[in-house]
Amino acid sequence: MSSRDVAVDGLPRARSVVTQTRAVLRQLIDFRVRSLPIPFNVLRDFDKVWFHFKQPVMPIDTLGLFPRITTLQDFLNSIDSVYQSIEDTLADANARSIFRDPPEDLFGPRTRAFVLRGPRLQGEPQPGPSWPDAIYFSSGFADLGPFKRAEISVHECAHWRDNQLIQDNAQPGFENYQKMDAGLALRNAWSYSQFALDCAFGRTQPFADSD
Ligand SMILES: [Zn+2]
Repeated sequence: MSSRDVAVDGLPRARSVVTQTRAVLRQLIDFRVRSLPIPFNVLRDFDKVWFHFKQPVMPIDTLGLFPRITTLQDFLNSIDSVYQSIEDTLADANARSIFRDPPEDLFGPRTRAFVLRGPRLQGEPQPGPSWPDAIYFSSGFADLGPFKRAEISVHECAHWRDNQLIQDNAQPGFENYQKMDAGLALRNAWSYSQFALDCAFGRTQPFADSD
């Protein structure tokens, strides 16, 4: 099987991760303080949001990814809107047309997947029949474990939402992941993939390649 076919094969697992993530967000979006103490699981889940997307200090600007965010509800709904679009991209019919094998291993064996969409950046191939807008899965992707593959699929779909504005700003486990502000975190593809792993598996670090 090609890497693209392996990625298509893994769609149910990736979708399940996103479904669990959106259930956590839904619970927080709907939460109203009616009595104290606030239930433990709600506090824990808010902590997960703060860890990956940072404490919202209003107003939050995202270079136009979202309208200016001024309330907690806006903040949570903005995050959820990206998972909504990830979920749409992972739908069978969409993923089958968006996922591709690259015609050559452009960025070397350590890049397992990448997104080309819209205006190309320096070093990226020009749009055309060989390199249409797509999520590309490099040859090494097929050798990864199934959980790592699901993580990467979710991560790349976050880029796909807006490849100019959702970039790799800070990676979990590095100091700058702690130091981001909410505006940067909302534009960080790693925040979307890692928050999803935290919601679905209680993981605050990426999976190992063999997972
Ligand atoms: Zn990335």
